[in-house]
Amino acid sequence: MSDRIDGTELTCREICDFVMAYLDGELPERERAVFETHLQICPECVCYLQTYQATVRLGKDACADPSPPPVPEHLVSAILAARKKLPRC
Ligand SMILES: [Zn+2]
Repeated sequence: MSDRIDGTELTCREICDFVMAYLDGELPERERAVFETHLQICPECVCYLQTYQATVRLGKDACADPSPPPVPEHLVSAILAARKKLPRC
C-alpha cells in the first residue's frame, strides 16, 4: 500500500486534459507535479505535449497573419488554360 502521489495515478487521457492548463500555467502545484512525473515515465505523453505546443504556436502565427497565402501567378494561368481545354458537354 502506498499513498504517495506519482504520475502513474493518471491515465494518458487525463494527461491530455491537463495539457492546456499546464501550458497556460493554470495547473495547481500538486497536479503539475503529478503531470511532470507522468511525463518522466511516459514518452507518449511527452510527444503529445510537444505536438500540442507546436500546434498552439502555429495557431498563433496564423492569427497574427490573417491573409491567406498568395496563389502563384503561373498556377492561376495554368488553371485558366486547363479550363479552356475542357471539352464542352
Ligand atoms: Zn501518458
